[in-house]
Amino acid sequence: SYDELRKCTSNFSDRNVIGSGGYGKVYRGILCDGLLVAIKRSQQGSMQGGLEFKNEIELLSRVHHKNLVSLIGFCFEQREQMLVYEFMANGSLRDALSGRSGIYLDWKRRLQIALGSARGLAYLHELANPPIIHRDVKSSNILLDEKLTAKVADFGLSKLVSDGDKGHVSTQVKGTLGYLDPEYYLTQQLTEKSDVYGFGVIMLELLIAKQPIEKGKYIVREVKIAMNTKDEDFYGLREMIDPAIKSMLSGTGLGKFLEVALQCLEESANDRPTMGEVVRSIETVLRNDG
Ligand code: ADP
Repeated sequence: SYDELRKCTSNFSDRNVIGSGGYGKVYRGILCDGLLVAIKRSQQGSMQGGLEFKNEIELLSRVHHKNLVSLIGFCFEQREQMLVYEFMANGSLRDALSGRSGIYLDWKRRLQIALGSARGLAYLHELANPPIIHRDVKSSNILLDEKLTAKVADFGLSKLVSDGDKGHVSTQVKGTLGYLDPEYYLTQQLTEKSDVYGFGVIMLELLIAKQPIEKGKYIVREVKIAMNTKDEDFYGLREMIDPAIKSMLSGTGLGKFLEVALQCLEESANDRPTMGEVVRSIETVLRNDG
């Protein structure tokens, strides 16, 4: 209830803020049964109201998988909405890769994180009923629990958030630039393959980000240049990878991983693998290379 959520975050004290994002502030809290939770609180009424919305949230709260951040509950007052999630002690993959959270991820760990998040997405696409398109796959939406298990957060949420005070009426989609499927610009539609595209960007981040794996250094240099010139806008990243790197890495786990990443980043959605196929490819790399 509202009162319990208020109590478990000490009246939404700033001390308990763990982040903020498109939706509002995120608070840490402990429910009366001792369960640690993260509470997303929005006070601008940025969520659409109505029965349809409630049904959608209810549907999302019934989706459970070990690589998905569970929505434990929600609470709606008039101008205030709260979504209660399981708590992820090690924050986002984005923060880990940027070095902000002081977590070192070696290559094997990165492969496990890639595999876990791919499994979460494959579950949404292939086993959830009805299937769920995430719509905003990016490394800040991959969270790590206390054992560094990767779980996908915020699935299905972006289509429920209205543009709020941003001033324009472009409804529906809220993908993130750089992770956004190039086909979206043609079709104005997000599909499972849009999620695959965003996942391809994450795979490249896993290859290149800070504390790079030794053999990945070459890739790091190339992609860093691309990223610096385009300022975190990863669009066109695929073309930035020198074919020479691919041949240099061919036959290695890194090479296979890069190959799959580039398949995910194909311009044409039809040329991209499904998340299920991505899972199987990463499993193979992990078996041979982990
Ligand atoms: P964005 O809109 O950028 O995706 P969010 O509102 O989802 O951001 O989350 C903002 C930050 O709050 C995240 O980067 C993360 O550090 C933290 N956070 C979100 N959800 C959780 C959670 N379930 N457990 C722990 N931390 C979380």
